[in-house]
Amino acid sequence: MSVCSVALPVCPASVNIYNWVKLPHIVQQMCARATPKATVTLTNLPEVIAFVKVAELNPHLADAVRQLTIVIRPCTLVVYDARVTYCPTMRSILRLVPKVTDLTLSLPKGTPPDIFFQVYFPDLCFFKTDLPHDKIRQFVDNHSTLSILVLGPCGNAGQCALSDLDLERATTVECDARCVGAVARKGLVHLAAQNDTTAYSIPLIFRKLSCVMPELYSLTVDFFPADTDILLSIALVAPRVRKLKLLEKSVHVGRRISSRRAFNDHLTWHRHLRKLPNLEEFALRTAAPLVSRGGDYNLERRMVVGWACGMRKRGTQPLVGYKGHPSLYHVRLWYGRTIQTSALSKWFKDAGQWVRLSTPITGSGLADVDF
Ligand SMILES: [Zn+2]
Repeated sequence: MSVCSVALPVCPASVNIYNWVKLPHIVQQMCARATPKATVTLTNLPEVIAFVKVAELNPHLADAVRQLTIVIRPCTLVVYDARVTYCPTMRSILRLVPKVTDLTLSLPKGTPPDIFFQVYFPDLCFFKTDLPHDKIRQFVDNHSTLSILVLGPCGNAGQCALSDLDLERATTVECDARCVGAVARKGLVHLAAQNDTTAYSIPLIFRKLSCVMPELYSLTVDFFPADTDILLSIALVAPRVRKLKLLEKSVHVGRRISSRRAFNDHLTWHRHLRKLPNLEEFALRTAAPLVSRGGDYNLERRMVVGWACGMRKRGTQPLVGYKGHPSLYHVRLWYGRTIQTSALSKWFKDAGQWVRLSTPITGSGLADVDF
């Protein structure tokens, strides 16, 4: 839902909106209706211009803003008036709202870094943007208060532009796998790393990290079916992780799609899970079938117990000498290649026994599920 403190009147069709929105009587009209709001979302350039014009007359409007979201689609900047107004307007709005704590900027990737010139938010905690990292380097560097960074693609083929920055206050980061080396810090508590290209692999990136993240509590990573050492590499850099989510990216090699996965070998997967002795919640999304009959209670249970307690695939009891995982109590699985063959199951350890929470979600029921 769009939350805007300035209501834009309807612009006549044949009029250039970028000039129209600056007309004194239009600004007066908007000023009369404007109400200060802490959360402001502006979804196009005319809305940003209108906000700037009105806030220049009514500083209370700008002073009230704590959460600011600006979305400008690249296609809207093909218009000449939009293109020439864009940078000065962005700079103006960012300078007008110094009390912002949460800033989200979804902007064309060609946006120059000068939109941040002389922009400073003393209390900025949250910054989300899809701008390339070389465009935000200086801005991020200037804001040592940042604790949450949600980043889009790096945009740089070489070294990430955020390397060597002092991000000591950052506790939560979402970024591309290739930038993990630049943002990984000892004090990181939450990390989510997406990876869309086989040019990078999480195990390799983790093995090359220059620091361990002992405070890392929750970790979400993309992985490829061939990443058989994914858990071992995580154990090296995040040995105390409690919540782990592994999201498989499919790789199509020719026609045949392999169903071989590291977790099919229950005993080895169990040994690798035990390398994460604080792990409590484990979630896995994979295109592999996992069990021969999707959603089957006994087959799923045998697999979950195999992973958690150390039991062979066709076994009925954990092997002698194998210890159950010390802290794992929740396993969430979303598996299967097609919507017809997929299932989402949740398993809990209750009084020492693994039980499934209700019936699995299957078929069209999965369409709206956010894993
Ligand atoms: Zn980067």
